[in-house]
Amino acid sequence: MKCEAALLSQVKGFLDPVEGMQLYEIAKKASRLGPCLEIGSYCGKSAVYLGSACLENQGILFSIDHHCGSEEQQPGEEYFDPSLFNYDLFQVDTLNHFRRTISAWGLENTVVPIVARSQIAARAWATPLGLVFIDGGHSYETAFTDYSCWAQHIVPGGYLLIHDIFENPAQGGQAPFQVYQLALASGLFQELPRVKTLGVLQRLNCGQISAGPQA
Ligand code: MG
Repeated sequence: MKCEAALLSQVKGFLDPVEGMQLYEIAKKASRLGPCLEIGSYCGKSAVYLGSACLENQGILFSIDHHCGSEEQQPGEEYFDPSLFNYDLFQVDTLNHFRRTISAWGLENTVVPIVARSQIAARAWATPLGLVFIDGGHSYETAFTDYSCWAQHIVPGGYLLIHDIFENPAQGGQAPFQVYQLALASGLFQELPRVKTLGVLQRLNCGQISAGPQA
């Protein structure tokens, strides 16, 4: 990867570099199976890791985000970043920052931004995917919606990655972990070693995915 750690550390984002390198390694395999897709672009940090791997295989990364910031990034919340507030729109706006990141890393012809809520983009989606990375909103409803909209498109042998897995509620919100457990309980995924808070599941070659009951 033409991935200089020092440069990547300057890209805004919450992704640990060890998790990022795991994204890159998995996407190198997954992008041979089909296009990759992430939910939660933010400022493009994970898109650099995933997209660099896709580029090596002449693949594509679809990167979905409404770019209005998630719940915890709104004014007054814990992860609000004033430099990402657009006073013309009077809302959080991460799209410009995302585009600058993608351009700086030469990924304009590899990373395809989709500026929409994930469930809206999913309404017209039919393309099988080699990888889905769920790193969007952290409420249960949002994380579950992202899972139920997108996991069904993963090809056999492809990967479902879920960020911010905390088994201990004292360390972080439980929604990503609950969705991870739901995916495992479906019987359609094999659990691979977790890297820090990055959950890694591989789609088995059987059956159809049911969204399952909502908790
Ligand atoms: Mg995350």
